[in-house]
Amino acid sequence: MPREDYETVIGLEVHAELSTKTKIFCSCPTDFGGEPNTHCCPVCMAMPGALPVLNEKVVEYAVKAGLATNCTISRDSKNDRKNYFYPDLPKSYQISQYDKPLCEKGYVEIETEEGKKKIGITRIHIEEDAGKLNHDDYGRGSLVDLNRAGVPLIEIVSEPDMRSAQDADKYLKKLKSILEYIEVSDCKMQEGSLRADVNVSIRKKGQKEFGTRTEMKNMNSFKSITRAIEYEIGRQIEVVENGGKIYQETLRWDEVSGKTFPMRNKEDSQDYRYFPEPDLVPIRLSEEYIENIRKNLPELPENRKQRYLEEYHLTEKGANILTASKYLSDFFEEAIKICNNPKAVCNWLMSDVARILNEKEMEPDEIPFKPEELAELIELIEKGTISSKIAKDVLDKMFENPEKPSKIIKDNGWVQISDEGAIKAIVQKIIDANPQSVQDFKSGKEKALGFLVGQAMKETKGKANPQMLNKMFKDALK
Ligand code: ADP
Ligand code: ZN
Ligand code: MG
Repeated sequence: MPREDYETVIGLEVHAELSTKTKIFCSCPTDFGGEPNTHCCPVCMAMPGALPVLNEKVVEYAVKAGLATNCTISRDSKNDRKNYFYPDLPKSYQISQYDKPLCEKGYVEIETEEGKKKIGITRIHIEEDAGKLNHDDYGRGSLVDLNRAGVPLIEIVSEPDMRSAQDADKYLKKLKSILEYIEVSDCKMQEGSLRADVNVSIRKKGQKEFGTRTEMKNMNSFKSITRAIEYEIGRQIEVVENGGKIYQETLRWDEVSGKTFPMRNKEDSQDYRYFPEPDLVPIRLSEEYIENIRKNLPELPENRKQRYLEEYHLTEKGANILTASKYLSDFFEEAIKICNNPKAVCNWLMSDVARILNEKEMEPDEIPFKPEELAELIELIEKGTISSKIAKDVLDKMFENPEKPSKIIKDNGWVQISDEGAIKAIVQKIIDANPQSVQDFKSGKEKALGFLVGQAMKETKGKANPQMLNKMFKDALK
């Protein structure tokens, strides 16, 4: 059966570290990094007799995430112990939530080629992160660092509603953007603040039942998620086509070989021997508490996009690109406060800034200059101090060595030549040097004008005011 006769089914379990100041069950800091084992106390190191106390902010952040993803918030929820042994988990159980998660039955909307599509969210629950094992540093085994133990997480479990790697990519990007907007997680994937377990299965088109899924754990880059899904679809189809069987198992994605490898068979929930956490009280939320969080929810990407379309008349594409990243759209808003030119700011961010970010494989929050500086650059073009061509060079410099555009322009002698006398002299010089082009223009070849202007630009290293050049050439050749 050809590949097109199969359909892919994908479901994601996304872990996001919450940006609360302190851990979920103790008052240790949640800061990333730090000397190993310096952000811990008897509670997160699992000393006998130490008791957890639930951090109220964790509940608030999780409820915010639930409301922002259209979930129902449970008034009555609780924590459970999920028992398993691993050296980064000193208690030998993780405090999580089993049958009564905080949030249930939500959805997130993505835009696909066939239009808008809702991806269901089964549940969002709170839990604690584990520590970290640092392997091989001393060539004599692994060292455990418990700084991350007890950092609060939300796990967002999706329905198996995605049908392609692109769907999964869009869903995760949307989710990331929502979490950034409501400021519950910094979503830094490279630091592991946002990571996804990717479940993939295939079935014959038209078949009702789902196929057996495999799961790739802890993926933290969009690129590898797409590659891993594509690979896994191909692998599963091949197995089935050759009369084989897919086993439910956990796989490891290897970035270098571009393949997945079996890690272990999948545990069932009974293997975890879940039971209610006896050291914590149930979580009861009042209607008022939930409504209060709902009322204070900040603007979400979708609303902000609508506002950009209506208030600033940006293009759909521009509004989409800007609002997909909270950082980028905050940057945009800061810049337009100064230069009051939304279209120009949007264009610069969408085209040249985006291109450089892409080339340098940087995220928007790594832009090395401030919104004020982009605004200044745009004002300098509007005032005619520099041409938009030179402005692109200024932007390159702003990425290399962030300084005020006016200083970069001054240091490089890039101020635009708009002095009439000076331009006239250049025009005359170019006319004298190019009699053939002058002849061509006079005999009706409009293109020749472009050539002459180009020569004058070359002569002035792009600094001559192009409008003035055009006009003066025309006048001189009349
Ligand atoms: P577990 O914790 O055992 O992995 P969960 O129920 O928490 O189980 O998560 C299962 C995830 O796998 C969900 O995101 C769900 O949408 C997804 N999923 C379930 N069945 C399939 C399937 N047949 N194909 C792809 N994804 C699936
Ligand atoms: Zn602690
Ligand atoms: Mg799973």
